Amino acid sequence: MRHVILAALSAAAVTVSGSWAQESPDWAIVIHGGAGVIERGAMTPQREAEYRAAMLAATERGAQVLEAGGSALDAIEASIRGLEDDPLFNAGRGAVFTAAGTNELDASIMDGSNLNAGAIAGVTEIRHPITLARSVMEESRHVMLQGEGAETFAREQGLETVDPAFFFTERRWASLERQLGALGLDMPARPDGAPEPEGVDHGELDRDAREHRFGTVGVVALDRDGNIAAGTSTGGTTAKRWGRVGDSPILGAGTYASNQSCGVSATGTGEYFIRLTVASRICAYVEFQGLSLQEAADRVIQDELTALEGDGGIVALAPDGQIAWSFNTPGMYRARQSAGSAPVVAIYGDED
Ligand code: ASP
Repeated sequence: MRHVILAALSAAAVTVSGSWAQESPDWAIVIHGGAGVIERGAMTPQREAEYRAAMLAATERGAQVLEAGGSALDAIEASIRGLEDDPLFNAGRGAVFTAAGTNELDASIMDGSNLNAGAIAGVTEIRHPITLARSVMEESRHVMLQGEGAETFAREQGLETVDPAFFFTERRWASLERQLGALGLDMPARPDGAPEPEGVDHGELDRDAREHRFGTVGVVALDRDGNIAAGTSTGGTTAKRWGRVGDSPILGAGTYASNQSCGVSATGTGEYFIRLTVASRICAYVEFQGLSLQEAADRVIQDELTALEGDGGIVALAPDGQIAWSFNTPGMYRARQSAGSAPVVAIYGDED
């Protein structure tokens, strides 16, 4: 069944949700690439095409793994690693900058078959934070590592490290300058190893300023064995300070997966998602109150998050293959695919 609700929140914002249930597909995957003030007409056709192509490619990477009988965890990792390398997204390369002019990356992954999970926060030299989160889950006796300790563990595991300048993009640097200007804070020195300054498209910066921090990536997958997993990776919010950590690496807030109920990955202003424990709350409504996945997602995003004046959205999957998304921003980069059907990519609130 297909279901779309459009309700005006204000003149500038709409709330959007949708769910699609195909008869128990063998596998399914749903992806987001961040939510925000993403409006038709405010994006160049070329940029829009780039985002659609990147979301499609991410879906296909995950779908290939699932079609071949691979695990939901493998699908998530394959899908997110590519997005982390893509400067369009606020994860890995292309991450937003802290007020100090650094990129501090957060990620988490959760295995719904046994509630195992791994998370990392504030890493600066790990090329693929999602892989590090998975290593924490599989190779350490801990669930969450942060900062230097997480980097040490990554090196011990032989994970790929890069110079912090690898994550630099001119677009995010210019966004930082704008944001710090608005906050009345000084601009830090350009990072060592950053490329020579180049011109940026000021129209695009205007759009970025309105979207203010889109581009976190997240994937939820259901594999042929019936296992659900979820993963999320982000650079956090532009000009974040004092070691700020958002919801993306917080299990239950930005990421959650349980074969008993659902899997969720979130994007939005993390402070609200932490306070509401958005991801596990949706699954709890499914498991303990008998709500459908879409009802649960809408209750948390359209009702509770909106009441707190938080903004953002989620993608979710149920064990029967039902896919849902819900967001209270004008747009969310998103895509979905189930076994036997073609991938669907959407950006704006009026698409499904
Ligand atoms: N949720 C992320 C954070 O607060 C940001 C985002 O999803 O745009 O760190």
